[in-house]
Amino acid sequence: MKGRGTSNGIGIGRILVYNQPEIKISKYNIKSKNEELIRLDSAIDKAMEEIDNIYNKALVDAGTKEAEIFFAHKMFLEDPEYIMGIKDKIKTDGINSEWAIDQATEYFIAVFEDIEDDYIRGRINDIKDVSERLQRILLGIEFKDFSNIKKGTIIVAKDLAPSDTAQINKEMVAGIVTEKGGRTSHTSILARSMNIPSVCGVAGIVDMVKDGDCIIINGFNGEIVLNPTEDGVLQYKRKKKDYEMKKQKLEGMRGAKSISKDGFTVELAGNIGTIDDIDKVIENDGEGVGLFRTEFLYLYNNKLPTEEEQFNAYKTAAAKLGNRPLIIRTLDVGGDKEIPYLNIPHELNPFLGYRAIRYCLDNPGIFKTQLRAILRASSYGNIKIMFPMISSLEELRESKKLLEEAKSELKIGGFKFNEYIEVGIMVEIPAVAIHSRQFAKEVDFFSIGTNDLIQYTLAVDRGNQEISYLYNQFHPAVLSLIMTTIENGHKEGIWVGMCGEMAGDERLIPVLLAMGLDEFSMNPWSILKARYIISNTNRDEVRAKLDHILNLPTARDIEEYLHENILKYMDIV
Ligand code: PEP
Ligand code: MG
Repeated sequence: MKGRGTSNGIGIGRILVYNQPEIKISKYNIKSKNEELIRLDSAIDKAMEEIDNIYNKALVDAGTKEAEIFFAHKMFLEDPEYIMGIKDKIKTDGINSEWAIDQATEYFIAVFEDIEDDYIRGRINDIKDVSERLQRILLGIEFKDFSNIKKGTIIVAKDLAPSDTAQINKEMVAGIVTEKGGRTSHTSILARSMNIPSVCGVAGIVDMVKDGDCIIINGFNGEIVLNPTEDGVLQYKRKKKDYEMKKQKLEGMRGAKSISKDGFTVELAGNIGTIDDIDKVIENDGEGVGLFRTEFLYLYNNKLPTEEEQFNAYKTAAAKLGNRPLIIRTLDVGGDKEIPYLNIPHELNPFLGYRAIRYCLDNPGIFKTQLRAILRASSYGNIKIMFPMISSLEELRESKKLLEEAKSELKIGGFKFNEYIEVGIMVEIPAVAIHSRQFAKEVDFFSIGTNDLIQYTLAVDRGNQEISYLYNQFHPAVLSLIMTTIENGHKEGIWVGMCGEMAGDERLIPVLLAMGLDEFSMNPWSILKARYIISNTNRDEVRAKLDHILNLPTARDIEEYLHENILKYMDIV
């Protein structure tokens, strides 16, 4: 059986099937609207008290950041639009609170469901969680209590609300399996921060198991073994031990330098999509932020963010990072990142279309607002600017010209900023990689965006499942473009980083290091592992093999060669 691994680790234990008592809501007319409103208010008070308790437990067990989920629940419970929505229904329709809650919840869910964003959609569960809590209190239904379960329990459920997960005693629960949910659902986020292995999306499991059944779950790859043999249990116990040892080794990388066995130092940074993500970078000992995708400021709004709003966001980010570098990428709209209110016409080939710097140069007002905000924030930290999707020198020059204009405007307005702010580009179009020597003369740094570079080099839409087998970071042409970019950057005396997913790919880190990559920016969770790999790599030894690697005929040849000649000896964590 298989699902999606959403929190790493291996869990071996006995099943506790968690069947939340079903809440059946019926509609009826109430006698007194006033009494019904009082009944609702007291349920709200009780719900608030329960959420407060869960919040306090989550603070201790999962951490401040994760506990915020329940802070959001409290906010939702106080949201006048939601509460008034329920009360209005009671007042105008004379119906019971439970039914009115159903109606108000449906309305909110419909609004969220229309938003094309996994994160926002994930919040639908929070709304349901709060609403069901209220209904349960009103109906007097007791929920299953997680506080007295036995050590080594694996909870199997159709779905778990974040508030259920937060109540779990992490010393007792060895794993969580659900039929629903995904990586970004709050339940998975909580499971990760509580260090409980979890697997989601296992269709039909609740009806196939009973309390006390033995189960093994693999949170790395989503594997589930029901009623395993003794041998199976032994094998997984070994895997679990191995994983725990490796985890300890990674912990040992905290606070260490990112330096190869033969003494070459690089920088390991994190990619972020929101300001909150900086906490993850810091928790994982990142040395800075190599890519701040600023689209979030535009996506979670229904209008363009003002200069002031952006300035505050960038300033907060810079302050959180202290003097660690923060590379802010200017708006990378288009492609798969749609911002409805910008009214970008529907295109047949959006990835090759009106996107990123092309859109910004065509809308200098929007672009300069962002540039001014970044510049103003630059006096509060170590900020650098990066332009996405540059394809020609003309575009780069035009972007820099607008940056200079933004600087002049700020000077006239008497604003402070870093006059010498570093300016770089993402190298994500093959033409730029090939021609990188010329670009390197006009920028302070490169950051190779392999997510796009691979799709453009191999003509493979990065989001198309049908052809995903062709999307291959080991392709000799991709590696050759990366090598060219690094060499050309160095010839012109600039540093070269990488912020595409490839930078955190453990199988390729030794090669990228040997190529001379100066900075690796990745998903924050991969930072400690990358440091471990770097500290176990002899850069010059791999460098001696580089010519051979780059001349291997196929992607598979390269992947196999790396495995057989480098990775096999490295005790990759
Ligand atoms: C990239 O293309 O590699 C990159 C980091 O940018 P994004 O994934 O945001 O397109
Ligand atoms: Mg990109």
